[in-house]
Amino acid sequence: MPEQQQVLVTGGAGYIGSHVCVSLIEAGFTPVVVDNYSNSHEVALDRVTQITGVRPPVYAVDIRDEQRLGEVFAAHDIKAVMHFAGLKAVGESTTLPLEYHGNNVGGSITLFRVMEQHNVRKLIFSSSATVYGDPASVPIKETFPCQVTNPYGRTKLIVEDILRDMSAAPDAQWNTTLLRYFNPVGAHESGLIGEDPAGIPNNLVPFIAQVAVGNLPYLKVFGSDYDTRDGTGVRDYIHVVDLAAGHVAALEQLFQVAPECRVYNLGTGTGYSVLEVVKAFSEASGLEIPYELAPRRPGDIAQCFADPELAWEQLGWRTRRDLKQMMEDTWRWQKRNPQGYRTSES
Ligand code: NAD
Ligand code: UDP
Repeated sequence: MPEQQQVLVTGGAGYIGSHVCVSLIEAGFTPVVVDNYSNSHEVALDRVTQITGVRPPVYAVDIRDEQRLGEVFAAHDIKAVMHFAGLKAVGESTTLPLEYHGNNVGGSITLFRVMEQHNVRKLIFSSSATVYGDPASVPIKETFPCQVTNPYGRTKLIVEDILRDMSAAPDAQWNTTLLRYFNPVGAHESGLIGEDPAGIPNNLVPFIAQVAVGNLPYLKVFGSDYDTRDGTGVRDYIHVVDLAAGHVAALEQLFQVAPECRVYNLGTGTGYSVLEVVKAFSEASGLEIPYELAPRRPGDIAQCFADPELAWEQLGWRTRRDLKQMMEDTWRWQKRNPQGYRTSES
C-alpha cells in the first residue's frame, strides 16, 4: 500500500521535482527531498506545502556528497528513489562538459552506491527524448536507436547504460524505470509552482512567457525552413502535471513488478510547431507575442514527438491536458510570479 511510503526525490525543489512532490503527496506517498538549490529555490517547497497542506522532509544536500546522502537514507525508511537532480542545459553542457559528467554521471553513481548500502534498489530516472538524437522517423518508439549529439544527452545515455548494466548483473535486484520526457511545459493550476529558469530561458515556452510578462522584448523563432507544416520546429509538449502523474504511475508499477530495467516515453504523441505554440499562448493570455524569424539553432532537429502507447499499455497512463491548458497554466504562473520565485512571497 502506498500510504506513508517514503520516496527519496533528488532535485525535488526543481521544476519537475516540485510538481512530482505534489502528485506523490496527493497519491499518499511521503516525498523526502534532497536538493543543493543550484537551479532552484527552497520557496518552491513552501508552495508544495501550500498546495497540499503537507510539509515534506527537505535536506539541502548535494547528491555527490556520499556521507550526507547516507545520513538522509539512515534517517528515513526510503522504499524507492526518483532521481531528478542534475544539470540540464544543452548549450551549457558543450562548454562545461566536465561539470555535466561530474554532476549527472558522478552524482548518479554516488546515489546508486548509497542506495545499495541501504538496500534500496527501486529507482525512477529522469531521462530525455534527447537520447534519440535526430530520429529516422516520427512518432518515436522506445525501441528506436539512441544517438546523442551533445554532452548533456550523453550524460543521460550513460546513466541509462549504467542502470541497464546493473539490472543485467547476475542476481541483480535493481528495479529501474527510465522515463524519457519529451518537452515538459506548463505549471500547477494553482499558479503557485512553475518553471523558473535562471537568466535568459533557453526553452521556447519559458521564453514566450517572459516576453508576455515584459521581461524580454521579442521571441526569435529558430528556423522557418524545416520540412514541417509551417517551416518551424515541431515538438511534443507535455503538461508538467501529466508528466508528474506518469511518475506516480511508474512508481506504483515498480512496487508490483519483478526487478528489471524498463523504459517509457512520456509524451502526448502530438507535435506542435513553434508558431502554433506562439498562437496558443497568445490566445491563452490575450496578448500579442512579438516574434522574428531567425536562423536555425545549431543542433536542433525538425521534429520530435513520441509514440506514447507503451506507457498507456503498461502503466495505464496517458496525458489529459491539451496545448491550451499548458499555455493557460504557464501564463497563470508567470503572471503571478513575474520574477519567478525571487520576488514572490511564499
Ligand atoms: P531543474 O533544474 O528545475 O531541477 C533539477 C534540480 O536538481 C534543481 O532543483 C537543482 O537545484 C537540483 N540539483 C542539480 N544538481 C544537484 C546535485 N548535485 N545535488 C542535489 N541537487 C541537485 O530541472 P527540471 O526541468 O526539473 O529537470 C529535472 C530532471 O529532468 C533533470 O534530470 C533533467 O535533465 C530531466 N529532464 C528535463 C527536461 C526538461 O525539459 N525540463 C526534459 C528531459 C529531461
Ligand atoms: N525555439 C525557438 N526560439 C527559442 C527557443 C526555442 O524558436 O527562443 C524552438 C526550437 O528551435 C525548437 C522548439 O522551439 O524547435 C523547442 O525548443 P526547446 O529549446 O524548448 O526544446 P528542445 O529543443 O529541447 O526540443
